[in-house]
Amino acid sequence: MTPCKYGTHRVIEPKGVLPQAAYQIDSTPMIYENEVLIDVDILNIDSASFHQIRNACNDDLTKMRQMMKDIITTQGKMQNPITKSGGMLIGTVREVGSMFHDQTLKKGMRIATLVSLSLTPLHLVDILDIDLNTDQVRIVGQAILFDSGLFSILPPDLDEKLVLSALDVAGAPAQVNKLAHKGDTVFVIGAAGKSGVLCCYQAHKMVKPTGIVIGLVYDQAQKRELDSLGYCDHILVGDATESIHIYEMVHRVTQGRLADLTINVVNVQNTEMTTILTTKDHGIAYFFSMATSFTKAALGAEGVGKDITMMIGNGYTESHATFTLDIFRESKALFDLFTRRYT
Ligand code: NAP
Repeated sequence: MTPCKYGTHRVIEPKGVLPQAAYQIDSTPMIYENEVLIDVDILNIDSASFHQIRNACNDDLTKMRQMMKDIITTQGKMQNPITKSGGMLIGTVREVGSMFHDQTLKKGMRIATLVSLSLTPLHLVDILDIDLNTDQVRIVGQAILFDSGLFSILPPDLDEKLVLSALDVAGAPAQVNKLAHKGDTVFVIGAAGKSGVLCCYQAHKMVKPTGIVIGLVYDQAQKRELDSLGYCDHILVGDATESIHIYEMVHRVTQGRLADLTINVVNVQNTEMTTILTTKDHGIAYFFSMATSFTKAALGAEGVGKDITMMIGNGYTESHATFTLDIFRESKALFDLFTRRYT
């Protein structure tokens, strides 16, 4: 019998669930015939997860290293037990199973996986280095890609670390491309972050010349950087957890109209109500943030009587990887920004 294409044959506990929902999976680095074995170089830890680990360890690299080691060895995958999120990896293909769906993938190819680390079996040998600036972790280890797993061959014209950081959030700008329309008001919460700037870029492209893009950033330095890119009509500075304060600012700059589309790309908890209050009735609130609580969003929207469409930020949308990498070929400013920040 061919092993399950979704990887359930590697689930240890609890039985019956898929690997993402499992507490523990089997990360033995020997593949079944429909899997791929990858020698991993770098993990790009999801921002909400990395933020949680940093806080829990007070930025102490030794403690962070130990915490990540414990997570991976206990669960067989790099899934933060609090945020439940993962991240992405890049590495070199070591072996391709004879039944894997894409036989163009060959030993020695450099790839980024497009499925979350929260479901990817990971056998850790060592953690070499943790970069607090980029959320990237250099490791020695092997990962398994299931038959259903998506991947992207690393393009020769872009730096690998840039590609890794961009692909981690590729679902966000690709969704903005689908959801934003000419004339819309788009509000991006966490606009100076990795996905934030990509969303502002794409929103600007979609809504102009009549629509407006509003970004919320944390501090003046982020405001200056975002301002220099020229994608936002208004850049608000504030704490996204202070819902009423942010609502009042958005209310003011939109003359009470609020946003047709609000994109939440922060990495901290308690920003659901900010997203909901700043979205106009019948508008769309898109929660890409992994720190989003379904309960807080659902009950919170009901509590304030908001008739809006609330969407969970699917990390995948068709062709999202190509779409996002093409942004760096289109925009020299974003290419330079990501090169400076993440490579
Ligand atoms: P990022 O680069 O760390 O950006 C987050 C931004 O939010 C940063 O600029 C951060 O500022 C800002 N921020 C944090 N707390 C804030 C607050 N209270 N008020 C205002 N701004 C605040 O993160 P990212 O990589 O773009 O990821 C964004 C979110 O998407 C994360 O939650 C991540 O987990 C999630 N994600 C989701 C998927 C999916 O499939 N849905 C995939 C990947 C990532 P500072 O830098 O000053 O803290």
